Amino acid sequence: MEERGSISIHTENIFPIIKKFLYSDHEIFLRELVSNAVDATQKMKRLASIGEYKGDLGELKVVVSVDKDAKTITISDNGIGMTAEEIKKYINQIAFSGASEFVERYKESGGDKNQIIGQFGLGFYSAFMVAERVEIVTKSYQESAEAAHWTCDGSTEFAIKPAHKETRGTNVILNVAQDSEEFLEEARIRTILEKYCKFLPVPVEFEGNILNNPNPIWTKQPSELTDEDYKNFYKELYPFSEAPLFWIHLNVDYPFNLTGILYFPKIKNDFELQRNKIQLYSRQVFITDEVKDVVPEFLMLLHGVIDSPDIPLNVSRSFLQADSSVKKINTYITKKVADKLNEIFKKDRTAFETSWEDINVFVKYGMLSDEKFYEKAKDFVLLQSVDGKYYTLEEYKALTQANQTNKSDQLVLLYTTDADKQHAFVEAAQNRGYDVLKLDTLIDSHFIGMLEQKLEKTTLKRVDSETVDKLIERDEAKESVLTDNEKENLKGIYETAIDNKNMMVEVAPMSPDDAPVVITLPEFMRRMKDMSKAGGGGMMFMGDMPDTYNVTINANHSLNQRILHAKEENRPRIARQAYDLALLSQNMLSGASLTAFVKRSFELIDKE
Ligand code: ADP
Repeated sequence: MEERGSISIHTENIFPIIKKFLYSDHEIFLRELVSNAVDATQKMKRLASIGEYKGDLGELKVVVSVDKDAKTITISDNGIGMTAEEIKKYINQIAFSGASEFVERYKESGGDKNQIIGQFGLGFYSAFMVAERVEIVTKSYQESAEAAHWTCDGSTEFAIKPAHKETRGTNVILNVAQDSEEFLEEARIRTILEKYCKFLPVPVEFEGNILNNPNPIWTKQPSELTDEDYKNFYKELYPFSEAPLFWIHLNVDYPFNLTGILYFPKIKNDFELQRNKIQLYSRQVFITDEVKDVVPEFLMLLHGVIDSPDIPLNVSRSFLQADSSVKKINTYITKKVADKLNEIFKKDRTAFETSWEDINVFVKYGMLSDEKFYEKAKDFVLLQSVDGKYYTLEEYKALTQANQTNKSDQLVLLYTTDADKQHAFVEAAQNRGYDVLKLDTLIDSHFIGMLEQKLEKTTLKRVDSETVDKLIERDEAKESVLTDNEKENLKGIYETAIDNKNMMVEVAPMSPDDAPVVITLPEFMRRMKDMSKAGGGGMMFMGDMPDTYNVTINANHSLNQRILHAKEENRPRIARQAYDLALLSQNMLSGASLTAFVKRSFELIDKE
């Protein structure tokens, strides 16, 4: 006997709305249906374990199959099944009202798909995104239960009748609509299954093969696992990437539920960072790899998986940001990452230093964006000197304090952004007994600003921002061998020779061993320009201004004394040659000036 009926729900005709609005995400129907099948088998297992079911469980699994000729996709399980009454209750009522609620919420969000992350919660009804007619053939596990056959075309009309089915469980048969026939391609189904079902807890079979790993290592205890297990799992997640540096196994059950493994990758290129994203799961069902809001932004540089049934996935983004369990999760992960880094630092400093090149971006980014992380990381963040040695902040202070404190009692830390290009300055500073740090990554300019803010009485200066005498100013004034008159004279000669109003010439007494001419770009000037380049407020005009350099003429260098004593007509030529050499040592000589310099140099050696 067939029963026909009408499903009562609030929203009439949700079908066209779902089909139209969620067009690009049609593929999630498979995730939803396979998840339901998995749930049904797991319920079966539970019933057996509490003695509610005494029969043979068999090999619990879910089978997906495609019949191209019949134009059907079938999802079969040997789970608890449903009686006719249960279909009416769970499918007609729960599934349909769930879908109509989903559509309501979707409309409230103004049709913004991103607001319903992963489109979670559409459930069984999502079958109608690809099927014109859905059938359920099911038999409950309960003794003497009768099999039932339900048919529905997505409207509120359904039909239900007795069926012949020998075995326990449910077959959901999708009669695929004409505009969705792409889903009858086996390759397409396989891709979708591999994306969403890779770690489902029950074997999922397609074309005779099990596609998933039902026991991924994040569900196990760390004590059961070896380094090899963690590395292999990383390979399983990202088959083409180099082995990770190290990892953190997350495992909490109070006050929220979360498991997962986060990996610190070897950063080979930016591309990999973007491609290998953290994957978010809910009870082993893949949800999304857009983990923004769930993971602190600086930790999005990590790879791996997070699994939590507590992350509310079917709510809007703004709600997610304010959600207290999401906040707690953020805090928890941040703390775990900091603790892990600290542990490696303490246990194996050499390994920590070897990895520093790969992890310094996380650490610095974390310190910049999260106060709590800063508090922990300040003890293990490393500074690297140009000679390759690593120091903690504390150690570096101890190293430099005696020799690099200026007359205003400020500790001046020197750094280079390019040890090669700024070589002359690095060497001059080192000859003075100063240490020079290597701070040459994109994040370092922000890191420098942060250090100045956080460390007391400390300034950072780029080595080429001043002549070596002025980098760290002392009280003692240097004697000059030139009279004031001679200095004025020398300044004039250089100004004529240089003939560039963006080069500010000054004559100053330096050590006779220092270079005769030194060109510097003042620290404040460069920082303002950098800020304006990065779009800093109010500084935009700076970006277009030409660089104004200081050209310092060493009054105590023999060459400059010789210029004053040379024949009048030769003076600008020698001054220009010395200036060009200074430019050259900083890679600043090019074009016509370089050609003129080379020509002049040949003439000069020809005369010898
Ligand atoms: P949800 O899974 O979120 O409860 P669904 O719309 O996906 O919502 O499913 C509604 C209900 O239908 C489920 O809660 C379950 O009781 C029942 N159901 C769906 N699929 C199956 C299945 N394969 N076997 C047994 N029961 C099922």
